[in-house]
Amino acid sequence: MNLLEQELHYPLGDTLPAPGAGIEVAPGVRWIRMALPFALDHINLWLLRDEIDGRAGWTAVDCCITRDEAKAQWEQVFASQLEGLPILRVLVTHMHPDHIGLAHWLCERWSTPEHACRLWISATDYNGARLASQSTTGLGGEGAARFFASHGLTDPESLEKIRARASYYPGMVPAVPASFRRMMEGDVIAIGGRGWRCISGHGHAPEHISLACEELKLLISGDMMLPRISTNVSVYDTEPEANSLALFLASIDKFRALAEDTLVLPSHGKPFTGLYPRIRQLHDHHRDRLAEVMAACRERPMTGAEVMGIMFKRKLDLHQTTFAMGEAIAHLHLLWHAGSLRRERDAAGVWRFSATS
Ligand SMILES: [Zn+2]
Repeated sequence: MNLLEQELHYPLGDTLPAPGAGIEVAPGVRWIRMALPFALDHINLWLLRDEIDGRAGWTAVDCCITRDEAKAQWEQVFASQLEGLPILRVLVTHMHPDHIGLAHWLCERWSTPEHACRLWISATDYNGARLASQSTTGLGGEGAARFFASHGLTDPESLEKIRARASYYPGMVPAVPASFRRMMEGDVIAIGGRGWRCISGHGHAPEHISLACEELKLLISGDMMLPRISTNVSVYDTEPEANSLALFLASIDKFRALAEDTLVLPSHGKPFTGLYPRIRQLHDHHRDRLAEVMAACRERPMTGAEVMGIMFKRKLDLHQTTFAMGEAIAHLHLLWHAGSLRRERDAAGVWRFSATS
């Protein structure tokens, strides 16, 4: 456990749900953990005991990616965790594949002629997911390669791999339900007789929705508040001037409105308390990175790729490189939008950022 983690408290200790099983973290709230085939090797999903139109069942929060292993884990969950009741609806925090991947399968499987098992999600992420699942670039491809090249990633091998990664998103999200119910900032959703308030967050996904139940002192934070790792905050080719980091930092401050001893249920890692210290840690973390970036840009004009080399000293694989490039650009853009940096494009079309004073 690192120093920062000592400020957080894990009420369940090192206990994790076994694959296909669940742990009750609060009355009617179950923690499910599923395996992911990435460096980030798991995702947490939540089952909330519910009743809709007099029908008893469960609300599922997030889905895992589409692949046979995940479906098999869900089958175990259906058999052991639902007490013979159906899944009534599927809430998805945001459009990333590990969260929405199997929504189409879950909604189809649990819909009956009498009851539609509906996907609930923000409209922005719903539309983003539908576009991405049907696109031929799938968040990789030529546009992404050109964008990274314009920020100084010139290594032909990496660019070739990014170009080739055209089916990245549809591979994990082959379909998205044809209809949805919209969740928006401030909405209060009745789940199992209790109110869960939607808190929108930006900078990680377009319109991420976290869910807070003040009565149970719970926050289903999604990816907006994680205990060990800092949430990925990137700039993508589809919104090349985005100020994602400023949006992210403003978004996490909204969680300060919740009780200090709120139990945070994150999408990755273990449930924890210590929401206020964690918010502060994330601000500190990014403030330090921004100072590093600023110092480098005072010495000479820097590209995104050069800044990535300063921020991430370890060797990165391609997947990590695309995240790291996005993070580096997000830090540069916060300083650029704030007027602390200016940017200029050279003859080769590469942006360089330098200090304005
Ligand atoms: Zn995410």
